[in-house]
Amino acid sequence: MARIIGETTVQDCIFCKIVRGEIPAEKVYEDDDLIAFKDIRPQAPVHLMLVPKRHIGSLAEAKADDAPVLGRMLTLANGLAREQGSPDGFRAIINTGRIGRQEVMHVHLHIVGGPEPLGRMLPRGDN
Ligand code: AMP
Ligand code: ZN
Repeated sequence: MARIIGETTVQDCIFCKIVRGEIPAEKVYEDDDLIAFKDIRPQAPVHLMLVPKRHIGSLAEAKADDAPVLGRMLTLANGLAREQGSPDGFRAIINTGRIGRQEVMHVHLHIVGGPEPLGRMLPRGDN
């Protein structure tokens, strides 16, 4: 029986499938706890997903035990951004739940950047 976590099982979870090597991804970093790969629909010249290998559904489900891996995500981000072409800063985004419009229910840090400054953090207006 698949382990059910929220509405996504670890069997079905697309980022768990990438972690297990069941679907391809353009990996740029991997260690025992974390994997980073290029976003399939990049929204900037640099757009990486940094993902804990252990399934955590969202920041809304994160527990104290998850703090070390979540902290490491933050401290890895700058090096990855620099290596991938964002030499002088980047934007780190963790969309969470319905309000945050999270689409993939496995915690991921978007690392977004490029050679030039990004647009506004949020659009002004309705959407
Ligand atoms: P979010 O809205 O924060 O849940 O973002 C999910 C992100 O995952 C989006 O930017 C998607 O383009 C990205 N994504 C979805 N499937 C894949 C995949 N197979 N490989 C790489 N990125 C993906
Ligand atoms: Zn998962």
